[in-house]
Amino acid sequence: MVRSRFQPLAAGLAAGAFGAARRARSDAAGEEPSTDCAMWHGARLRLHAGARVAVAGADPDGPLGGLVEVVAYDARAHKWVLAAPRAGGRRVGVAEDRVALSHALLPGNGDAVEPFWGGVGLHDASQDRCGAGLATTARLEKGQPLFAEYPFVVAARSRADRWAAYVALSAAAAGGDGASARALQALDALVPTDSPSPEAEQTARALVADALGPGTHDAEVARVLAVLRKYEANQFLYDDGGDAKAATALYRLVARMNHSCAPSVALYPERNPQHPGALVPGDGRLVAKALAHLEPGEPLCICYGPADLIAWDLDKRRAYLAQHCGFRCVCARCLLEEEQAARSSR
Ligand SMILES: [Zn+2]
Repeated sequence: MVRSRFQPLAAGLAAGAFGAARRARSDAAGEEPSTDCAMWHGARLRLHAGARVAVAGADPDGPLGGLVEVVAYDARAHKWVLAAPRAGGRRVGVAEDRVALSHALLPGNGDAVEPFWGGVGLHDASQDRCGAGLATTARLEKGQPLFAEYPFVVAARSRADRWAAYVALSAAAAGGDGASARALQALDALVPTDSPSPEAEQTARALVADALGPGTHDAEVARVLAVLRKYEANQFLYDDGGDAKAATALYRLVARMNHSCAPSVALYPERNPQHPGALVPGDGRLVAKALAHLEPGEPLCICYGPADLIAWDLDKRRAYLAQHCGFRCVCARCLLEEEQAARSSR
């Protein structure tokens, strides 16, 4: 179980220090190595090859209407090179200020976890009433890097874009792409928020009405809502250089980490220096490091709130987590402090 959160960008990690994992795709594109772990750098934006973007001011029925695929960034022309599906994949250069991310499917990354050390095991037992979570199976030193992984889905902030990513992933899986099928399985397995936000409910109704026309369609709304709640509970903010600075990303392994108000692990997102026109590996990679010395069996937990949450008192922490992450915290520290408070008020 994991709730939405944002980890500040790491200052200390050298760009590309760990290299990029490249994996062969199992789709029809076939022989070419996957570029899922690399991003094209524009003057300001960073986009994965194959990401689907909207072009501002485009005729909705023209070649650049709807969603268009990113091919590359042409630094000499100062333009994003896009492939227009409605024009037979014809390549068109578009100025950066007209381009905005909808979503990128990176199914090859679902399997691309780089273990720095083999002792990270999945722990099935309950962790302080938080449900199943990740635990270490060996001794860890403080500061030790455990693993790094890339997102398998990146989507813009709007819930409609997140749903569009899910639909596209479902279609790729149904089309027989094995990596997409595994990524879809990983997304479906994510634990949703306890209850939907009113905004998510509204969006689900609007999306279904848009697709199916007027009517109740409760079952379809529930299906969309279930997906949106999984995003809400598991997404990380993802810096694509866009104005909103709020693209979101789903990672497979860190989604298995529970929250703790005394976290044992910190996550460091990597972002390389801007290099317009280059396909740069490493952006969006999350590196997990131990925050303390840990013995075998101890839970690997992260803090879903801001970095200073761990300095707050019990009530403030619980209020924040309930409001922003949709759950009442029952981590070991909260339970202990609750008990101490009850004892001192007796
Ligand atoms: Zn707590």
